Amino acid sequence: MNGNRVRLPGLVNAHSHAFQRVIRGRTEYRTGDTRDSFWTWREMMYRAATRLTPEDIYDASRMAFLEMALSGITAVGEFHYLHHTADGTPYEDPNQLAKQVIQAATDVGIRITLLRVGYARAGFGVDLNPRQVRFIETIDDYLKRMDQLRSDASLLGDLVTVGVASHSVRAVPLNDLKQINEYAVQHRLPVHMHVAEQPAEVSACIEEYGRSPVALLATEGLLHDRFTAVHAIQVTPKAVASLSDSGAIVCACPTTERNLGDGVIPADMYFERGVTVSLGSDSQAQIDLLEDARELEYHLRLQKMERVVLAPEAKESRSALAARLFECATVNGAASIALRSDHAEDYFTCDVNDPSVAGADDLLTGIVFGLSRTAIRDVVVNGRTIVSDGTHKDQEEIVTRFLQLQKKLWS
Ligand SMILES: [Zn+2]
Repeated sequence: MNGNRVRLPGLVNAHSHAFQRVIRGRTEYRTGDTRDSFWTWREMMYRAATRLTPEDIYDASRMAFLEMALSGITAVGEFHYLHHTADGTPYEDPNQLAKQVIQAATDVGIRITLLRVGYARAGFGVDLNPRQVRFIETIDDYLKRMDQLRSDASLLGDLVTVGVASHSVRAVPLNDLKQINEYAVQHRLPVHMHVAEQPAEVSACIEEYGRSPVALLATEGLLHDRFTAVHAIQVTPKAVASLSDSGAIVCACPTTERNLGDGVIPADMYFERGVTVSLGSDSQAQIDLLEDARELEYHLRLQKMERVVLAPEAKESRSALAARLFECATVNGAASIALRSDHAEDYFTCDVNDPSVAGADDLLTGIVFGLSRTAIRDVVVNGRTIVSDGTHKDQEEIVTRFLQLQKKLWS
């Protein structure tokens, strides 16, 4: 590499809702006299979700993917559940919004695995929330639209693949979970699902099925090595063992989880049981996958009042902890969204003299624990340079369009 630049494998963001970029910084105030929580945040997020046109979704997604590219992310798993028009009627092409998101990723130049999300209901015994009509479809429609997406040859290519997802045990009843899983197994696709993010989700699942979400998935045979449990925070040691035994992957999203007050993922238990932990930017509260990587460790330090919690044996090299966390941000993410992990043509370069990393004892440790985006100089995907000297060629236009969108949405 020229001068002071070192080359590192591209980061893989395994869980994203690109459109949520429009609410960054817009939910950080009290909404009423009750305590604010994940659930009050969700109502605010729905307010934005119900107003976006296909073009808006393209603009918001392109902004999110631009920021990902600038931060060294070369591939994203997009957990896509916005399907219909604002009143719930499908578009003429029922995959139109999925295609907008795919187009946004390919225009920025990053790889995307579009995880089309099934969403059937508001919850067990819960009335439909009118703000969810853009997400909801029957299982038959869902499977038909997945077929259409998979067979669209003009869409899929070097940068684009697809997978399936069930939104959560709350939003998808067991019969549909099974069908979506069967589809994934039959077509060898990755299958993702939000699992055990909030205590209320776990208690509703126990009320409906007499089992926690992970126990339900385990006993129904829905856990396997193509399955990714997103969040997986509210879990018992037994649930961690089930995930481990099945070879399932976990996707942690600590920058979002701290923003939403979700709790702390027990990464120590997962690491101890050999579970593959990947990372996601989720709500886009921040887009900085190495911050997610270091928070896996830092949240546990705060909780346990200890240091270097996730390091392997003390006798291993000084970079062992950083190497573990870096794996979460790279190869583990690739496994989650079914990318080849040997994409040597996906990488970024880092300026070792950038103030955020200069003078590190061990360079990888310096990068994992200290790197700021200013140190990222070039980003290459599939052999093509998409960020050069810290700038994307379409950056100005993408930001301008996004500013216009924000003005339209919020003023
Ligand atoms: Zn999510």
